[in-house]
Amino acid sequence: MIANAPPLPEDEYLSHEELMHLHGVLQDQAALLLNANRQNISHLTDQREIDSDAVDQASNESDRGFSLRLADRDRLMLKKIQSAQARMVEGEYGCCEGCGEPIGYNRQVARPVATQCIDCKTSAEQSERRSWQA
Ligand SMILES: [Zn+2]
Repeated sequence: MIANAPPLPEDEYLSHEELMHLHGVLQDQAALLLNANRQNISHLTDQREIDSDAVDQASNESDRGFSLRLADRDRLMLKKIQSAQARMVEGEYGCCEGCGEPIGYNRQVARPVATQCIDCKTSAEQSERRSWQA
C-alpha cells in the first residue's frame, strides 16, 4: 500500500490515482508476460514431440532458439516490472534515476517501467552508442 506520499505538485509528480493506475498497468503486463511464457513452454514441449522428422530438425532448432530468446527478453521485462513496483512501494517511482526530476505521467503511461526522464534516457543512449563505436 502506498501511503504517506509527500504532497507533490500534481502537474509534475504522480498523484496517488495515477500511481495506482500505473501499478495496475504493470500488474497486467506482468500477467500477460507470465501467460505468454507458459504458452512458449508448452509450445516447446509440443515441438520436441513432433521433432522426430530429421528434415524439419534444422528449422525447429532455430524456432526453439527464437522462443528461448523471447522468454529471456520477457524475463528481463518482468524484472523491470517488479523493480518498478518495488520503487512504487518505496515512493521512488516517477523520479528520474539520473537527475531526480519527475519523469512525468505521460511518459510513465507510455512506458511504465521507465526509470529515467526523456533527457537522461536520450543522453544515456547516446553515450551507449558512442561506447559501441569505440
Ligand atoms: Zn533525468
